[in-house]
Amino acid sequence: MHTHWTIGDVRITKVVEHELPIPMNGLLTDPPADAVARHGWLEPFVTPEGDARLSIHGLVIEAGERRILVDTCVGHLREGLIMPAMPSGFLESLADAGYAIGDIDTVVCTHMHFDHVGWNTRLVDGEWVVTFPNARYLFGRVEWEHWSTTDGDYMNVGDTIRPVLAAGQADLVEVDHQVCPEVRLVPTPGHTPGHVSVVIESGGERAVITGDMAHHPLQFAEPDIGAPADTDTPLGAKTRRLFLADRTEDGALVIGTHFGGPTAGRVEQDGDAWRLVP
Ligand SMILES: [Zn+2]
Repeated sequence: MHTHWTIGDVRITKVVEHELPIPMNGLLTDPPADAVARHGWLEPFVTPEGDARLSIHGLVIEAGERRILVDTCVGHLREGLIMPAMPSGFLESLADAGYAIGDIDTVVCTHMHFDHVGWNTRLVDGEWVVTFPNARYLFGRVEWEHWSTTDGDYMNVGDTIRPVLAAGQADLVEVDHQVCPEVRLVPTPGHTPGHVSVVIESGGERAVITGDMAHHPLQFAEPDIGAPADTDTPLGAKTRRLFLADRTEDGALVIGTHFGGPTAGRVEQDGDAWRLVP
């Protein structure tokens, strides 16, 4: 079964690649030892041992005729990634959820870290080829300029982004790009320079996909806690506070890109910070 949410006429389906427990101090930068214990509402998002339930998933947005895939997970086993190599059944799960690779018309990457771009391409006869033959791939211009010029290519953009550009299927878009009437990008910088979250609006309802604006709901309670891979931790914290204040006001459904368990919820003010209520 694939978890899904309905926003007006739009359906959003979670397609999981991996869900695994990870120590909070491996996921986030220096969380206080009692951080989880301080916030009982985190229970659905942590294991009984207090580890983070980390999920790596893609989200398919079905809006009218559109089939938009947000983030493509880790993908094929690749050399040199910071994660242990695990086989990926993502494309099989996608098919099981009712989406053949040819059905996806748009791929959005919230940013260019390896666990968001992996299945952009796949290895066929020793060559990296585009996975989704009928899709336009929307890559952030700011993001691309950052990762393709800092000391050469970052991590694996050479085999996840460049083949898509070479195939002529990529569009470099701005951080506030409108994808279709129901779906638009909003800038949420800090984790990476061109990082975006994805807003879905239909029938007077709204949902927002976080991307790595936050890696775990603990960062709603303690917004200043960053993640090791942040390019600008203070900016990330500022972005989180703005995002959470906005979500308290608009009541949007927040869908976490790495939140395991229930994955989504509504944001409520909690003293001078926030909580996520599944
Ligand atoms: Zn990530």
